[in-house]
Amino acid sequence: MTLPTVLIVDDEPHIIDIASGVLSADYDLLFALNGDRAIELATGQSPDLILLDVTMPGRDGFDVCRALKQHPDTASIPVIFVTGRIDPEDETRGLEIGAVDYVSKPITPAILRARVRNHLELKQIRDHLARLAMRDGLTGLFNRRHLDQTLQQECERVGRGGKDLSLLMIDVDHFKRYNDSMGHQAGDDCLRHVGAALQRPLHRKTDLAARYGGEEFVAVLPATSAGEAFRMAEAIRLSVWDAALPHPDSPFGRVSLSVGVATVSGGTRVTPDGLLGRADAALYRAKAEGRNRSVAA
Ligand code: GH3
Ligand code: MG
Ligand code: MG
Repeated sequence: MTLPTVLIVDDEPHIIDIASGVLSADYDLLFALNGDRAIELATGQSPDLILLDVTMPGRDGFDVCRALKQHPDTASIPVIFVTGRIDPEDETRGLEIGAVDYVSKPITPAILRARVRNHLELKQIRDHLARLAMRDGLTGLFNRRHLDQTLQQECERVGRGGKDLSLLMIDVDHFKRYNDSMGHQAGDDCLRHVGAALQRPLHRKTDLAARYGGEEFVAVLPATSAGEAFRMAEAIRLSVWDAALPHPDSPFGRVSLSVGVATVSGGTRVTPDGLLGRADAALYRAKAEGRNRSVAA
């Protein structure tokens, strides 16, 4: 099991020694002797918590905290100020900037240990809730809300130029009949199976698989040409076909998918609805032409 990572920032090495003595058994530790290095490590290593000295030459702790809170990559890392100053005005200022807590110098080991543990627990809960809020409960894929956010960003990106953006809209064929003949529980299992089949061929970090609603799924494929996207669509369709899940009330006798594929080239302005609409129109054609196939817009 990996330990949480704590970044300790102080211009005085002996304070870093004391804090690491208190924390090294329970956490992986990173150290910075100045504000610039602290920001560099926070950005590059994504620590789970930061212990931040207030008074440092160059960028002081307030300045560092403000910079961390302004950047989306580091904004959610809890910051605890460690300071000799116990003036209420400074304390207020630090909390207003976004620090979660204060620990005073000289460091009392039991207090430091307890504060760090408590704030790491809270962060774990926050992270867990944030992950849940993005996911579809049945399939574990991303949900519609997260899809909408990502697609908005990807449409903006492709509009600025760069590589093609592709999208697959995937729909289970005759799924109402599947539920009717096999039962709703089997229907849910089938959707889980399709969700897993959709996820499997998406290897790039930027690829995203989402449940769009009901028995409809979407894959967002940045930097993917129309040809590559079509091959991906066919790979997904065939992997469900080859699994041969019995569907007694389908003309195919097994569960099948229809897929609509849409691609926009770099530099093209497109809205999420526009792109989804094009994939949906292609999906409609796949249905009309007999189902169990992929069609490109
Ligand atoms: P087509 O081949 O044209 O796509 O026909 P279809 O029957 O698949 O499409 P339709 O939109 O008529 O029906 C979709 C069905 O999906 C109806 C609904 O009960 C079922 N469904 C939607 N969400 C869920 C779910 O979470 N679980 C289960 N078991 N069924 C669901
Ligand atoms: Mg369907
Ligand atoms: Mg449908």
